[in-house]
Amino acid sequence: MNNPTRMKVIERASIKLAEKVNSICPECNTPGFGITDVKPGLPCELCNYPTRSTLSYIYTCIKCTHTKEDNYPNKKYVEDPMCCDNCNP
Ligand SMILES: [Zn+2]
Ligand SMILES: [Zn+2]
Repeated sequence: MNNPTRMKVIERASIKLAEKVNSICPECNTPGFGITDVKPGLPCELCNYPTRSTLSYIYTCIKCTHTKEDNYPNKKYVEDPMCCDNCNP
């Protein structure tokens, strides 16, 4: 379970992600405009049912209340029916 090598890899991956997503708020120019929420619900290719795959990322400013929704961050617009609870329960 608590494999230290694996823990390190996860740690490094999350730092990399944080660096990539941290940007400047377009409203107040404060750095730290980052992903605060992930919205699931990418539609199934076959039946259009909302799957658990990422539909959008929600960005929120740490200073003001500005938020931005980034749709299809993975450049994926539909999910494979294999991942659909409706087509493939
Ligand atoms: Zn702001
Ligand atoms: Zn489906």
